[in-house]
Amino acid sequence: MAIDATQPYDDENIFAKILRDEIPNKTVYEDEHALAFHDINPQAPHHILVIPKGRYVSWDDFSANGSDGEIAGFVRAVGHVAREAGMVEPGYRLLANIGKDGHQEVPHLHVHIFAGKPLGPMLM
Ligand code: 5GP
Repeated sequence: MAIDATQPYDDENIFAKILRDEIPNKTVYEDEHALAFHDINPQAPHHILVIPKGRYVSWDDFSANGSDGEIAGFVRAVGHVAREAGMVEPGYRLLANIGKDGHQEVPHLHVHIFAGKPLGPMLM
């Protein structure tokens, strides 16, 4: 079910549990600002999620309330993950779902990285 992007942060959400190592994940990258791991239900040959370490519900929350260091660190981590995975050529797609109409299901900001095949035009 899609969430309200303006809701308060819920420390029991699934990605908070992954950050606390309470739930296993297939980590591909970790630094002080971000954790990247394989999506449990991949929608492309390569489907990685990148999440900030801080308690941010959504892109809206993060862009409004994240520190410049957190935001820069997170953006750099997303780029690093894609580069290290060899995705820059032939290319990849980033996606962040926000709130109900954006169909965000997990209330901790995450950026999807899709790659591994021609992804076609964005379809609504
Ligand atoms: P959203 O719709 O919120 O943008 O996407 C949430 C994503 O999280 C989905 O692609 C879903 O497959 C993934 N996901 C949900 N629960 C888990 C989990 O426990 N582990 C991992 N690795 N991915 C999950």
